[in-house]
Amino acid sequence: MRQLIGLCLSASIVALWFTAAPCTASLDAGLVMTGGKVYTVVGDGWSSSPQEAIVIGLNGNILYVGTDAEAEKYKGGDALSVPLEGRAVLPGFTDTHCHPLEAMASQFSCQLFKEARADDFADELSRCAGEASKGTSWLLGAGHDINELLKDVAAGRMPVTVLDEKVSDRPAAMLEYQSHSAWLNSAALKEMGWESGGTPAGGVVQMSGGSPTGIVFENAVNMVFHKASGAIPADQTKEDLVEGLKPLSRAGITGIIDGRTYFSRQGNAEAWTSLKSEDRLPVRVVLTPWIHPEKEDDAQIAELKGYYSTGTGAEDLVRTLQVKIYSDGIIDQGTAALLSTYSAPAFSPDIIIVPAGTETSCEDGIDNDNNTLVDCLDPACSTSPSCGLNYFTKARLEKYIKALECDPGFDFHIHVIGDRACREALDAIQASNKCSGTKSPRHLLTHVWMVSDADVPRFGSLGVTADIQLQDEISELDEYNAAYQSLLATRSNNQASNNMFPVKRIADASGRVTLSSDYDVSPDPNPFIAIKRAVAEGQMTLEDAIEAHGREGAFAMRAEAVTGTLEVGKRGDIVVLDKDPFGVDTAQLDQIKALLTLLGGRQTHSQGGEFGSDVSIGTPLGSSSEGGMDGGAAGG
Ligand SMILES: [Zn+2]
Repeated sequence: MRQLIGLCLSASIVALWFTAAPCTASLDAGLVMTGGKVYTVVGDGWSSSPQEAIVIGLNGNILYVGTDAEAEKYKGGDALSVPLEGRAVLPGFTDTHCHPLEAMASQFSCQLFKEARADDFADELSRCAGEASKGTSWLLGAGHDINELLKDVAAGRMPVTVLDEKVSDRPAAMLEYQSHSAWLNSAALKEMGWESGGTPAGGVVQMSGGSPTGIVFENAVNMVFHKASGAIPADQTKEDLVEGLKPLSRAGITGIIDGRTYFSRQGNAEAWTSLKSEDRLPVRVVLTPWIHPEKEDDAQIAELKGYYSTGTGAEDLVRTLQVKIYSDGIIDQGTAALLSTYSAPAFSPDIIIVPAGTETSCEDGIDNDNNTLVDCLDPACSTSPSCGLNYFTKARLEKYIKALECDPGFDFHIHVIGDRACREALDAIQASNKCSGTKSPRHLLTHVWMVSDADVPRFGSLGVTADIQLQDEISELDEYNAAYQSLLATRSNNQASNNMFPVKRIADASGRVTLSSDYDVSPDPNPFIAIKRAVAEGQMTLEDAIEAHGREGAFAMRAEAVTGTLEVGKRGDIVVLDKDPFGVDTAQLDQIKALLTLLGGRQTHSQGGEFGSDVSIGTPLGSSSEGGMDGGAAGG
């Protein structure tokens, strides 16, 4: 039987992709799944009326959703018949902010870790410094925690010195695990022209006693890695992406928005299109060209327009519909933009790294000398500690939105963490927002940790999606809430309300909310981590939380015509779960596993065992297959 299925599948794959049909199934059915709980996620109240069966056609579209009795007529012929045995089926999940390529950056030779000071890395730095650099003249690494290195700075042991003692023959750069700071040696500072300090646009070179400490923040990090990563071979980038995508398929995710795509970095955007053309791409993706603070505006706007791509339409697996722009940084290191002054909770005020604003009366909100940075703030922010850092001033953000949202039609994917960053982004969108019809904007603010009460209703009224991560690694809520409360206490102007991650506040005010993982900043992209948390904290019902990780994400991706719900005619993007989320305690939600993930009817993940091992349609797309379902069985 197994062999028969295999033979027939080989033919089915031919039918699926080359339109010949040597193994024609009844009514063109490719996969008939019966006896389950098929949650369509159509309308409201869908959780109370699951269907029994779902049928996927050889063309990868959903042919039927309904009763077992009706599904019987699709059986026979070459259709693969799979009893669900009561298991739950949902639309494939979306992850509207994640970093699969950065998750597997193989050029990182040095593997650092959290909870360690600079000198604790001596052995690892000796080891990796003894290896040849990978595809670049730089030595690169990642994984440390900035808060630990800042303790070294406070103690007078400069991180640059520690790194120089191990690596002096070439530039070395270590990326912090949250990717908002980096640790450089002297050769790297020299390579960047920062050996005596510097003022990178949207970034900071930390100084102590007139010399760089070796730590750089925010856009300075991007400038370093942009330069250092330029020589990575394109094939290596592509294989990194293949590996980085596997955890997403294993988690039942079929649609993603790439958290940032460096079109100007070698092989970065091409990796996606290349995998698509090789039929190896296991997700549908919206790419997001990164907007560089250090580039001149008009030239960059022209460049960005050239990247816009709707592909062949909503069903195309790779489309470039959003641009990624950072408004601010992160709270820990004092670079999140807040409405009033604050000291970063994680370290003492005397190590504040953000320079206070110097100009407070720029007419157009842009510092024309620098054309970018921190300045033009409320005068109250021009003190130390400051109100945080901007990658782009509000006026400059508005300029980009106006230039790109109607023609060619980019949606903006804006990093905001502080309440000031949030307000400035909403202000800039409000000042733009002039397109209608199919170009009606679907801008998205991601992270959205702190929102002033006054700004909460603006998500709904402006049609802006709040994309929020509730993954444990990012939002260790107790820790951050404690830090946040102490932060609030230091603020002279307490305008923010008191919950971070304001899912419920925004949803209650008719705003759209998506849940995403920020993988690999959080190591596990399992959507049920955030779903559990949203439910356990009383921020969402289980039904709403599942919609926020799927149907709402499909909308944000402009893919709702083809995915996000289980309806006839949509693509077969589905996930089969080992447990029914509506049948387990909230505390158990994050234990739910994806047994099978299909993208357009093609298997991207199958967990082995009594259920998964015999289920397949289409090739495995080079993705995960636990339990013996890899490659050959169905690959024909
Ligand atoms: Zn991110």
